[in-house]
Amino acid sequence: MIKKDGRTRANATAFRQWRSWLRGVDSVANPHSNQNVQWWGNIAQVLASSLVTSAKASLEEGDVPLFVQYFGQPASQDRLQKVEGNYEKVGAYLTRTITYHALGSNVCGESAKLGIFSIPNNIWLGGCFFAAPLMGIDSKAGIVLHEASHLAAGTKDYSDKNEADAESLANTDPKKAIKNANNYEYFAERSGFVQTVPSAIP
Ligand SMILES: [Zn+2]
Repeated sequence: MIKKDGRTRANATAFRQWRSWLRGVDSVANPHSNQNVQWWGNIAQVLASSLVTSAKASLEEGDVPLFVQYFGQPASQDRLQKVEGNYEKVGAYLTRTITYHALGSNVCGESAKLGIFSIPNNIWLGGCFFAAPLMGIDSKAGIVLHEASHLAAGTKDYSDKNEADAESLANTDPKKAIKNANNYEYFAERSGFVQTVPSAIP
C-alpha cells in the first residue's frame, strides 16, 4: 500500500522501528562520556583501516586457505574480486569523519539501518566494544570494520555470534558468507593478526 507521501506500509513500519530504536538509545544511561566514545571510535577507525589493508594484502597474495575459511568455496577469481571490492568500499568509508555514539547496552556496535532508513557516518558502540582489545580477534578495530561494512558495502548479519559461527557459515553457505559482516571482520582480523605477530619468536 502506497500512502500519499509515497511511503509504503512496510517503510512506515521500518520508520517507526527506527524512531523507537533511536529513542531507546537516547533514554538509556550513557556509561561513557560522549567525548570518550568519539576518542575510542577514532582510534578504532584508524586501526580498522589498517585491518582493511591487511585483508586486501591477504587477498592479493592469494591466501586461499584463509579465504576458504571465512568466505567458503570456491576461491574463484570473481569471488575474490567481489570480497576485495567490498573491502575497498569499507576502506574508503573509513576515511570519512564518523560520529560515534554510546549505546547503553552490552552489544558491540550498531549502525542504524532499518529498511530504507539509514544514518550514514554514524556508529553506535556498546559495552562489548569498550571491553574489547584494540586489535586481535573480536577487537575494537574489528567492531568498527564490521559496522562500516554495513554502511559501506551493505553487508548483513546472517551470523553475528562469534568466529566459529562465521566459519560455519563460510562452510555451509558461502553465498551468505561473502555478504556477512562478521566474516569480513574475522578475515581482516586474522589477516592483521598474522602480520602483526613476529614469525621469528624463538
Ligand atoms: Zn552487524
